[in-house]
Amino acid sequence: MGEIGKLGFGFMRLPEVEGADGSKEIDLDTLAGMVDTFMNGGFTYFDTARGYHGGRSEAALKAAVVDRYPRESFQVATKLPAWMAKDAADARAMFDASLEQTGAGYFDFFLLHNLGEERTRLFDDWGLWDYLAEKKREGLVRNLGFSIHDKADALEAVLDAHPEVDFVQLQVNYADWESETVESRKCYEAARARNLPVVVMEPVKGGSLVKLPDDAAAVLRNAAPDEPLAAWALRFAASLPGVLTVLSGMSTPAQVEENVRTMRAFRPVGPEERAALDHVRAILDGIPTVPCTDCRYCLKSCPQGVRIPAALASLNILALYGDEHRAQENYDWNASAGPASSCVACGACEDVCPQRIGIVRELVRAAGLFEKR
Ligand code: SF4
Ligand code: SF4
Repeated sequence: MGEIGKLGFGFMRLPEVEGADGSKEIDLDTLAGMVDTFMNGGFTYFDTARGYHGGRSEAALKAAVVDRYPRESFQVATKLPAWMAKDAADARAMFDASLEQTGAGYFDFFLLHNLGEERTRLFDDWGLWDYLAEKKREGLVRNLGFSIHDKADALEAVLDAHPEVDFVQLQVNYADWESETVESRKCYEAARARNLPVVVMEPVKGGSLVKLPDDAAAVLRNAAPDEPLAAWALRFAASLPGVLTVLSGMSTPAQVEENVRTMRAFRPVGPEERAALDHVRAILDGIPTVPCTDCRYCLKSCPQGVRIPAALASLNILALYGDEHRAQENYDWNASAGPASSCVACGACEDVCPQRIGIVRELVRAAGLFEKR
């Protein structure tokens, strides 16, 4: 796989400008400057996906990277979201569309996008593993892997069924390390038990870890006054053995500059710093949240297909970090397919919830907060 810098550029939260018709467009000039800072810093890994930025991220990568740098000087990773396709043929066609959109010629890293829950089955049913293995034999894919937003047992099931994968992409950050819903540590350990390289996504939890509550931020500022909060998060993830690179979805030139500075001078997190991060996690754990453990029993009983745990997770992001943007982003990605507003208050979910959560009440709150637009 070769030596790759520990900072990867995620193309999911790119800078935007207002277009002529008032709609938001990706700000390609600013993005090109950010890419230059990143490349000049010695980093080369770019991560995009068909679904990012309403389907415009791959073309932005072509304009800002592929058309401006020699192909062998950087790595491109993109992803196939079968769950956005209407059938197997449609899903397969996404591969060629990504090749065309990125102009990359081949993919250094190609991922089956966002496995987990009922999505995992689609990739098998539609023969996409075999299809992509063929692309690898043809030289169009150099490393084949998948990203997953699910718990360790779901990850292990995929790894058992597909031992051929070259790498995995996992949500790893210090806040979710011991989380019962994300299981960062357990997922990471499952991958490492199989000697698989790990690409880390969401190291800063979509930006939430730079918006810590004051008392939690004070712990880190006392431990290292000059260390940016994002640096703590990136360094935690990059310190883990077997991590290939740590993706950061950077939106501004200042973020790129700061992250490049941090990762050029990368120092693994030491024992005292680790203790400080444990302290922050304890503070976050003490903030009242909806006590959902993401067991998903409720999903099976809901006649409306409401994405209950995802909606509750957005409420919790808001409670923990006050991060409206991130909470909304989580809702749009993970809950909007079964919106809280479609709940008919039948109570079936509450009957099976082991945490005895007043789900109907919480869904009313979620709909009010996240379905305003
Ligand atoms: S109360 Fe609402 S969320 Fe719960 S099972 Fe019924 S429709 Fe679904
Ligand atoms: S049953 Fe309760 S704890 Fe389990 S996912 Fe649903 S709301 Fe969360």
